[in-house]
Amino acid sequence: MQLFAPKAPLRRKIDCPLCEGKLEIGGRTQSIVCPHCNRSIDTSDHFIDYYCAKKLLETSGDVVVDKKGTLRGEVKAGRVVVKGKLYGVVRARVAVEVLAGGRLEGEIHAPLLHVEDGGALVGGCRAGAGVPPSRAAPSGVLR
Ligand SMILES: [Zn+2]
Repeated sequence: MQLFAPKAPLRRKIDCPLCEGKLEIGGRTQSIVCPHCNRSIDTSDHFIDYYCAKKLLETSGDVVVDKKGTLRGEVKAGRVVVKGKLYGVVRARVAVEVLAGGRLEGEIHAPLLHVEDGGALVGGCRAGAGVPPSRAAPSGVLR
């Protein structure tokens, strides 16, 4: 066990979720103005352990919906981990993981999709190599 290990790397490279421009930020930076598109972007990780309804939750970080959490809305993030309930459109740049007890209903766009034993996935998905989630077709498939 490394007691004094830093919680976050000193620098990390991210893609702007708005313009896909590459930028490098400090490990603990929570938000930054993208030098490419001049828009403010959220670079923090979101831990949802409550009821949360949003039109759009957009971050270059990760989104974790905990066991007690429910998230409704569109999610754009790096990695999306569902241990609770998530209803909506999910666009992950890295991966979507539905863990045991988790339920994801909606539409998923992700290069990597993992549903653990005991997790539920209901809806459509576009997963695998060659599916750039940010360029995937707009939502509206769930009919
Ligand atoms: Zn940008």
